[in-house]
Amino acid sequence: MPETPETPSLEERILVLAPTGRDATLTCQLLSQEGLCCLPCLDEGTLFLEIEQGAAVAILAEEALLPWTLHTLVEVLGRQGPWSDLPLIVFTRGGGNSESILAALGPVSNATILERPVRVSTLLSSVKAALRARRRQYQVRDLLDRQAEADRRKDEFLAMLGHELRNPLAAIRNSLWVLDEVGSKTEQDVRQREVIARQAKHLVRMVDDLLDVSRVTLGKIILKRQTVDLEEVASRCLNELDLAALAASHGLDLRVETEPVTVDGDPVRLEQVICNLVQNAIKYTPRGGSLTLSVHSEDSEGVVRVRDTGVGISLEMLPHIFEPFTQVESSRSRSEGGLGLGLPLVRGLVELHGGRVEARSDGPGRGSEFIVRFPLRQKPARRSTGRSGTWPIAAASPAATPGNGHGQNGGLSILIVEDNMDGRESLRDLLEIWGHQVELAENGLQGVERALAGQPDVALIDIGLPGLDGNEVARRIRAVFGTDHMSLIAMTGYGQPEDRRRALQAGFDSYLVKPVDPAHLARLLAELRAVTG
Ligand code: ADP
Repeated sequence: MPETPETPSLEERILVLAPTGRDATLTCQLLSQEGLCCLPCLDEGTLFLEIEQGAAVAILAEEALLPWTLHTLVEVLGRQGPWSDLPLIVFTRGGGNSESILAALGPVSNATILERPVRVSTLLSSVKAALRARRRQYQVRDLLDRQAEADRRKDEFLAMLGHELRNPLAAIRNSLWVLDEVGSKTEQDVRQREVIARQAKHLVRMVDDLLDVSRVTLGKIILKRQTVDLEEVASRCLNELDLAALAASHGLDLRVETEPVTVDGDPVRLEQVICNLVQNAIKYTPRGGSLTLSVHSEDSEGVVRVRDTGVGISLEMLPHIFEPFTQVESSRSRSEGGLGLGLPLVRGLVELHGGRVEARSDGPGRGSEFIVRFPLRQKPARRSTGRSGTWPIAAASPAATPGNGHGQNGGLSILIVEDNMDGRESLRDLLEIWGHQVELAENGLQGVERALAGQPDVALIDIGLPGLDGNEVARRIRAVFGTDHMSLIAMTGYGQPEDRRRALQAGFDSYLVKPVDPAHLARLLAELRAVTG
């Protein structure tokens, strides 16, 4: 095969703008003899276009540098990335001219002035030095591009990982509920189930954090704002995660000091912030220590403080504590696990609310304090202000107890379309215990066939199915039966608002994010049962 001459890269080109005389021609001749790639530009417009395509150096004659050209040149160079500092070589008439041109180039600081007559060796050495510097700049650009790409892939991976982890969690949670429904025979059974339930809950939170951190990073979280009382949020967080019991089981004394503080925020996200901080305080405080959660208003801010007498944070670590994946090496933190995502999430959510968070510690072994400040919506008014003291922590929400009687009024025919075998079968067991009749399909096509043939009251359909995805399954069922024949419920690991919108458009009536809370599912089915009679 004949060898094609290698086309020099755009980034190796030396652009020359010398509109009068023979400067451009002579310079290009000289540089070409040295094996360099030179492109004379007829006017400044061409020069700017070529710079945007890629260039190693621009050589300009003083005569070309009119005020408009200088102004536009500065703009064009400013549009290149932060890695770029295009070397310019300017031929001047010498004398005072050189200084005034240097001053005019001001912001374009990477300029070399060569006074005419220019010696060949001076020109060649200046061009070669500029070329070398420019190649380095392009290397930096490539490196930054690669890093940005790796970062993007990491974010995608985290989002995917979080999503994939939801499937096994759903199966574990379903099976646990089946065991609860069947009833426990021995005390040991109950204990083991409680361990699985606690650990599954822990896993669910880690997966949620993982997904939320990538969404905060990608700017995809939208707050559902309303007037919120931080005292109530704190109370909910303590009750829902049963943090008092958790603290007690770690041998810790948990004190709560709050007053009503009204802010403008998303209650779910605010709860996440407070829960994360309290859970950390529990995690990083050895037995016998104490924690304080306080909510107060100070000046024009709602302030949440979580203080502990635990392992503390070193001065070097303090500035990094809110960066993703940061973990202080300590046997306790490792033994308790954690992804180093809680605090970045806290900071991201607090900042979305227009607030700020800081960490304080007098050093290792001397405890920590996390202080979150939110803009206040209004002065506390609900109760007398300034009340402060401990308030009762409501009794723990009852854990699922054996035979808890959900779905007592079963009687629906339900099709489950789910490719994950454990998820499918554990859900079938649960629904059958609740008294429903269940049929299974393990992929989208089978799902459509069984829905059309069996015409169940309800189809519970996973979205991420092989071949035909859940949305397509819903569309095909709806195309045959219309909207009021069968209830379609999506069960999916994809929890983003766009995913929900797509599913509802495809014909689903409801949308549940995995791992589905069985109590929620039971309520939904009871409502459908009431409607179908
Ligand atoms: P993790 O999942 O590791 O707990 P976080 O982002 O919540 O991740 O916390 C990051 C690191 O900050 C932890 O690994 C721990 O070293 C440190 N840290 C967080 N909270 C506390 C605390 N209350 N006391 C001491 N160290 C803490």
